[in-house]
This record gives sequence, structure tokens and C-alpha cells, in this order.
Amino acid sequence: MGPHGEEVDRVAGEPKVDAAVIAALLAHVDETVVVLDGVGTVTAASPGLRTLLGYEPETVIGRSLLEFLHPTEIDELVESIDRWTDRSGTPRGQVQTVRAADGSWVKIHYDAVVGEAAAPLGAMVLTMRRPESADAERNLLLQRLLNEDRLVRLASAFLHVPVDRFDEGLDRALAELAGLEWVTRVSVWSSAGTRAVRRGQWQAARNAPALALPEALRHEGSHILRRLVAGEEVHITSVRHLPDDWSKERGALERAGVRSLLAVPMVHVGTFAGFVMIEVTLQEISFDATHLSTLRSAAAIFASALARHEIERELDRRARTDSLTGLPNRWAFQDVLAAALARVHAGEHAGVSVALIDLDRFKVVNDDAGHHAGDQLLREIAARLDARRTGDQVLAQLGGDEWLLLVPDCPSIDGGIAATHDLLAVLGTPFEVAGRPIVVSASAGVVHVAPQDAPPADAIEVLRRADVSRYRAKELGGGRIEADDPVIRARVSDRLALEADLRDALAADRIVAHFQAEWDLASGRLLGAEALARWVQPDGTVIGADAFVPLAEACGLVHDLGTRILRDACGAVAGWRAGGRLDDDFVLRVNLSARQLHQPDLIPLVHETLAETGLPATALCLELTESSLLVDPDRAVAVLEGLRELGVGLAIDDFGTGYSSMLYLKRLPLTSLKIDRAFVAGLPADAHDRAIVAATLQLGRALDITVTAEGVETDEQHTALGALGCERVQGFLLARPEPAEVFAARLPG
Ligand code: C2E
Ligand code: CA
Ligand code: CA
Repeated sequence: MGPHGEEVDRVAGEPKVDAAVIAALLAHVDETVVVLDGVGTVTAASPGLRTLLGYEPETVIGRSLLEFLHPTEIDELVESIDRWTDRSGTPRGQVQTVRAADGSWVKIHYDAVVGEAAAPLGAMVLTMRRPESADAERNLLLQRLLNEDRLVRLASAFLHVPVDRFDEGLDRALAELAGLEWVTRVSVWSSAGTRAVRRGQWQAARNAPALALPEALRHEGSHILRRLVAGEEVHITSVRHLPDDWSKERGALERAGVRSLLAVPMVHVGTFAGFVMIEVTLQEISFDATHLSTLRSAAAIFASALARHEIERELDRRARTDSLTGLPNRWAFQDVLAAALARVHAGEHAGVSVALIDLDRFKVVNDDAGHHAGDQLLREIAARLDARRTGDQVLAQLGGDEWLLLVPDCPSIDGGIAATHDLLAVLGTPFEVAGRPIVVSASAGVVHVAPQDAPPADAIEVLRRADVSRYRAKELGGGRIEADDPVIRARVSDRLALEADLRDALAADRIVAHFQAEWDLASGRLLGAEALARWVQPDGTVIGADAFVPLAEACGLVHDLGTRILRDACGAVAGWRAGGRLDDDFVLRVNLSARQLHQPDLIPLVHETLAETGLPATALCLELTESSLLVDPDRAVAVLEGLRELGVGLAIDDFGTGYSSMLYLKRLPLTSLKIDRAFVAGLPADAHDRAIVAATLQLGRALDITVTAEGVETDEQHTALGALGCERVQGFLLARPEPAEVFAARLPG
């Protein structure tokens, strides 16, 4: 040990003895000794290596042990080395297949010294010798058993291999073949039209020339491929001696270093499916029955494995693809999302965003233009979206007119929103369907998952949240992107529960009409009443209209609700009239939502309700807001005219808050206006409110229709309205909305 001993000591596996000293020691040993360092690099070798394997000792120094080992035995050896090192053992009599200098595989016996005992020289000292020569017969039997064993392993390489890992199975199977001693390279080829396409290749020896099979041999013009396609096997014992009409093949194979070649076609269900080929570069080999039967069996296994793989891949593709647009479907997306979430939770990605995109009013297009045109539109939209997304984003078709976008490695929801916004920009250019331009818009809900989110969200949960945000985007009128927000999320799920409750309440007759009286300001005579919807809870508490009418409108229940209130109120008022308890000019006011106005059966509904309850049409006035007239003014006018023909009165509710237009007022067959309580509230002090109330009253007089002031709460307001010439009033000052029986109690008789 030299003066550097201590320094060197600290590096694991470094020899404690100078390399030159070791070399000198080894030069005189009779046995074959090889010294390795901690990572398996040869640091010294004795001259015995020359006779044992044909290597000059200095040519192996610096090379890895792995280079000499048989590929199928590497794992085994590494494992046993780990075991020995742990126990500092000295295993004896191990067997290993190693590559000799001439390229052949040779079995050797070796003893290994590791740990402390090897320390002076290196991490491991191997002493090697040839195995006791076995008789030829035993060897052949062993070889055959080995072959069978290989074929079993080859076949099992394909068993239970998931479809997306087929190539790994193929590699493992090829490695089994390449493990045969006489094989340099083995490859599997599939037929593709008139060409052959290499599916996999395994090269047994690292030191074999790494040349791919020349192009020339892959084409239909080559003798080799022609024979294989015809179902014949190709045995070439000696490339050198190929006949002259094979000169092209001979040249190509020689340039590739191939000396012998064996190829067997793969036939599946009677058709040529490809071939398996073995190349030998180190010697010429005359293939015998064992070689042939091995390769034929292998070809049969490869053929059925490849065929099964094709089918599985196609099935898998179909199961994961949307049939209309060809985009990945929900199931494919869920897998991608699950993988993305795993990366986020592992901290590999900064986060992931998911957008659920939903076309607005696609149903209308579909109904108007027909399913065929609808499908065409969806395909075009899908194609545009797909072309717009960036390479790392994933776009999937969720349902008919819904898409999912995944933005990977996305640090915040803003990134997801921006990506969605960018994607939806493609909708800015109109589409052309059946020769007609069509403009579409979409709503989207965007969700983001960050690494620190707890509890970690799974794919289903993320999609559910995206759905809730999408729902909200729709509810807010569509054509917008809504971000997932825990507060809103809770509110929406509240709303979903509320919607279900409302449905139940309607079915159980717990939505009823209350009545608020309308008075003659001067005389205090009862002129009418407004029916207002109330939700009676099981515990008897009553919920006001503002808390559930907007919800009923949003979820499509307002038609049911309106029908219920109309029947309820007309029935009650008709009863009071019949009992002589109301004046003949008493008017029942019932509110109509915008949606109801566009319900096709509104006129027959009103007609039937009047007929059923026996209420004269003139005793009913329907109240509409200005905004409800704007949706489709021509249609609205037609409906109002139809209602008016029944004899029913029509009022503009909340007058002055919406889009007031003198033009509309002239076109509409109105019988009254209701001044919104916002203007009444400012009386008498607010000059602006005073002016509006005065103008509305004048307008009523000009159009010869009645005007009612709503929301009268104070005596001052009452007096001010009287001074302005208002004749009809309604408000808490005079009466609150009351249940039918309470309202009836104040009537005479
Ligand atoms: P609206 O048609 O303007 O009804 C008048 C609202 O003002 C009622 O609220 C009523 O209780 C309230 N109100 C009456 N006098 C006063 C007052 O002096 N001060 C104040 N602060 N408020 C007063 P409600 O019942 O909550 O109804 C709210 C809205 O819900 C109604 O506004 C109407 O647009 C809608 N609605 C009510 N019932 C129905 C219905 O059966 N069908 C439809 N489509 N909508 C309805
Ligand atoms: Ca009203
Ligand atoms: Ca009103």
C-alpha cells in the first residue's frame, strides 16, 4: 500500500493494491482470473483468458462484465452478486453462459470472491474454468429441452400482456430466440402491402455488426420476400455460395455481415402475415431439424400473437374513440386524466386543468336542420377544436355536443381558462351546414387541481365539478366560461337539491296562490287582487316567490308552476264571484313568465282554465314583464293578440324597469300598466321618481289603459300618488299577499 492508501480507501471498490502489482500477480497464475470493480468493470485479467475464451487479457480491461454475459442470465447474476455482497460470501461452482471472442456462447464454471476477501484486488475476483466436458448426447438432449423451454417462455411472453405493452412482450419473446447459441440476430416482420415492415428485432451479441437488413431485401422484388410470400421457408447455409441470380441478395447480405440466414413465413388464417428471420454473422451454419422446428414453432406463436394484437388494438381503439368525430371518448379521457392527476399528486406536474365544453342551443340546430346536418356540424366543430389545441393538450368527445379539454402541467386555473378561451376562438368563424351559415357558441366549466389539494381529487370528481361549472355557465346565459369555485359549487348543489324539492312540492300541491288586494285610491273600494305564488313547507312556513320562481324558470318548471297558480287563482276568484262576494269589475291578476309566453299551448291553456273554473275572461288580467316581450317580439305580439281575443286583459308589469318603448306599447294590445315599486319608493321626495310616475300615468291616459302603482308602503306615498292622479294602488300599506281563506274573510257575505 502506498502513501495514497488512505485516500483511495474511501472509494468503494477501488483496489487497495496498485493495478500494476495486480497485473504482475495475475501474469503468473495458471487459472483464469478476472478482477472486477464495484460497478462490474474489468480491472484486471489473467492470461488464462486467452485459452479459455480467446480474449487477449488487455482487450477486456475497462469493459463491463455485462458485455460478456448472456442476455437472459444477466438479471440472475446481478441478483446473486447482491446476495453474495450482503453476506460477504465466497460462492463456488457457479455456471454462466458467456460470449467467447469468436462470438459463440460458452458455458463456464466460476468461483467468486467478494467483500473483504476480495478487497485487496477489487470488488470481486472471479476464477473461471471450462465445465467438465459432457458427452455429446447429453448436450443435445439438454439443448432440446432448452429449446422447448424457450418456446414456452416465448409463448408466455405474450400471455396477459396488456395491449399497450405488446411491444415489450414481443421484445421478450425475441430475446428468447436470440438466446439460442447459434443466433446472432432475430427479427419479426409484418406484411404491409407489397412490403415487409419490421415489428421487432433482437440482437444477441453486442459485438455483432449492428447492421439492419438492407432495404433491398424488404421489397417484393427480392427473392427472399417472394419466397416467403409464397409460403416457402428460406434456408441459406452459406450466403457466400448463393447462386448468381441471387447476386443482389448476396451482395446485400454480405455487406450486412450475414453468413447464414433462416426465415420462416408466418401464416394466419391461410394468409401471409409476415415472417421470422434469423441471421448468423459469426459462422456459417447448416440448419438442422431442431433449428427449423424451433423457428417454425416460434413463427406460429408470433403469427397468432400479432393477429390477436391487431384485433385487440382495433377493439381497444374503437372502445376508446368517438364514432362520430374520431376523437378519444370519455373512457379514454378518464384514463388520461387519471394519469395526469397522478403526476400532479406526485408533484411532477404543477397542476392540471380540465374544461367541459358544451355547445349552446345545439338542439335547435339539430331540430331545425336535421340530424344529418347536426352530425356534420359536430364533426366540423370537433375537427376545428382538435386542430386548434396544442400538442400536449388532450381533447375528447364527451357526448353529442360536449367536449373535454385537458391542459397538463398547468399551474393555475387561469391557464385552463386561457386555454379554453383560445380553443373556443375557433367558433368565431361561422360554420356552413347544408348550404346555410351557422353561428355557434359554447359554454364551458373549467376545473383545476393543484398538487397541494386535499383530499386529492379523482377523475370522476374532477369531471363532476367541471359539469357543475358548465351548468352554471349555461344558467348565466351561455357563451361563457365559468371557473370551478368551492363556494359556487356548494351553492349549485344546494340549487340542485332545491330543484328536486320544488318538483316534489309541485307534485304534492304545496305551491299555492296567495292574493294581494288592489284598491281604488280615492274610495278604498276593492278593484282586484294579484295572485302570487307561495311555497308552503311541510312545517307550515311559507316561502316567497322571489326565492323559487327564478329557479323554476331556470330549470323549466315554471310552466307547471304557472299552470298551477292560474287554476288555483281562477278557481278561487270564480267561487267568490259566484257567491256574489265580488264586484263585477273585480280583476284577478296572474303573472306570466317569459317562458310561458313562448309555450305553444298557452292560449288553449288559458281558454280551458277559464272554461273549467267558470271565470269570465274579462275578470282575468295576465301580467308580463317588458323583457319577456323582447325575446321574439313578433311572436309575442301574436300570442298577446290571441289572448286578447279570448277577452283576457294584459298588463305590463314593473313598468319603467325594462326596455320601455313607446313603439311596443302602441303595437301591443294592452289593458294596463303597473308602475314598479322602485319608483313608488322614491315618492314624494325624489323628483326623478315623481317625473316617471307622472309620465306613466299620462301614458296610461293617452293609451286609454289603467295604471296601478305597486309597493305602496307609506301614507306619504299614498298621498303623493293621489296628488299625481293615480287611481289604483297595491301595497303593504293596504294589504299584504294573503292565503285564499284570509283574503276571503275580508269579503262581504
Ligand atoms: P311582482 O309581479 O312585481 O309581484 C309583486 C311583488 O311585490 C310580490 O313579491 C309582492 O309580495 C311584493 N309586494 C307587494 N306590495 C309590496 C310592498 O308594499 N312592499 C314591498 N317591498 N313588496 C311588495 P313576491 O310575491 O315575492 O313575488 C315576486 C315576483 O315573483 C313577482 O313580482 C313576480 O314577478 C314573480 N311571481 C310571483 N308569483 C308568480 C307566478 O305565479 N308566476 C310567475 N311567473 N311569476 C310570479
Ligand atoms: Ca305582478
Ligand atoms: Ca310588479
